[in-house]
Amino acid sequence: MSNSWKLNEEGLRILAAVDRIAREVIEPRAATTDKEGRFPRENIDAMRNAGLLGLLSAKEMGGQGQGIRSAVAVAERIARDCPSTAMITIMHNCATTAIEHFGTEDLRKAVATRGQLATLAFSETGSRSHFWVPVGTAERNGNGIRLNGSKQLITAAGKCDLYVWSSKPVAAQGLSTIWAVPSDAKGLTISAPFDGLGLRGNGSAPITARDVLVSESSRLGEDGKGFDVMMGVILPYFNVQSCAVSLGMMEGALARAVQHVTNSRYSYDSSKIADLPQVRGHIARSRVKIDLVRGFLLDAVEAVEQQRDDVMLRVLESKVAGAETSLEVLDLAMRVCGGAAFRKDVAVERFFRDSRAATVMAPVTDALYDFIGKSTCGMPLF
Ligand SMILES: Cc1cc2nc3c(=O)[nH]c(=O)nc-3n(C[C@H](O)[C@H](O)[C@H](O)COP(=O)(O)OP(=O)(O)OC[C@H]3O[C@@H](n4cnc5c(N)ncnc54)[C@H](O)[C@@H]3O)c2cc1C
Repeated sequence: MSNSWKLNEEGLRILAAVDRIAREVIEPRAATTDKEGRFPRENIDAMRNAGLLGLLSAKEMGGQGQGIRSAVAVAERIARDCPSTAMITIMHNCATTAIEHFGTEDLRKAVATRGQLATLAFSETGSRSHFWVPVGTAERNGNGIRLNGSKQLITAAGKCDLYVWSSKPVAAQGLSTIWAVPSDAKGLTISAPFDGLGLRGNGSAPITARDVLVSESSRLGEDGKGFDVMMGVILPYFNVQSCAVSLGMMEGALARAVQHVTNSRYSYDSSKIADLPQVRGHIARSRVKIDLVRGFLLDAVEAVEQQRDDVMLRVLESKVAGAETSLEVLDLAMRVCGGAAFRKDVAVERFFRDSRAATVMAPVTDALYDFIGKSTCGMPLF
């Protein structure tokens, strides 16, 4: 296996384990996961059994102690076969990052050693993609906290163990406060299962919280400081891993498109689709676009690791670079596969549908363009 992510020995060992799970468990189930819109429980179990749900948890908690570079490598590998599973994984990793920073020891161990699956529950029916201004509430209730709110499209809803949940502050000034909420807490309901266009396996569904009681110790960060947690701790991991998922999808689709155009023939002269120079040109354009994103993503990872001056710009750009390029590359993959691209067995159409999600997952591409424009013009982002 090439070491394009420049992983250390431990990172390479982990990636090899993920590669094996992807080949033996994830890929064989990918078509059914998509067709049935089924949560890929076996994939998550395989990851848990290999200790991979503790990828970003500290070693002293029982985790793997890895950082953003390994998270990117893992997300990209899984997305080559099953973007739904990759999205569940990156949501878990983002939630883990907040839990590692601010959670109690028991909570951190729940993820690191007991393999609990976590996700982000930020997006609300009221504030939609503007997750930084939740309208759900948190009120003091005796010694604890009472949460009320309505979340939309939460990955792994009802399938995970923990939600990293946003609300308005309890008492402090500020836009939000973050909580760790057990998925079996009384008062949480999921109204309808997910039946989406793409990422059909990731179980994104609305969740309503009605008088859900949590302890004060489940707060992640200070009351009123949720914005800092979202932007300073979670956003770099979310945007950079989202780019990795887009990259993996592009690699997965290109590999399947190449398989089709190099094996399908015109019987009158036995020529292949790939013998057409126009088709090879589209394949070449795709290769160049994918490699540009790969090089960019590697630089973004370094910017985060080294906390370079341009880190915020790179973080904002990374999700856009992956999302926008994947739309172009998946269009090309559909084109070169022709009518066959509409067949499920060629599998390119699955990646085509899956690739649409990154643009509308918050922070949405249009908002990111606004932030990048402001940053480039020296204006405050908010
Ligand atoms: C498959 C999937 C999984 C998801 N998983 C999760 C999850 O695990 N956790 C979670 O919290 N959320 C999740 N979401 C929700 C997601 O993060 C977004 O909040 C949601 O998709 C936004 O949709 P909306 O219709 O509410 O957006 P709207 O806010 O209605 O935006 C619609 C459009 O308006 C434009 N727009 C909006 N805001 C701006 C702006 N500031 N500047 C410029 N243009 C703007 C954009 O063109 C945008 O696409 C998921 C969504 C999907 C599709």
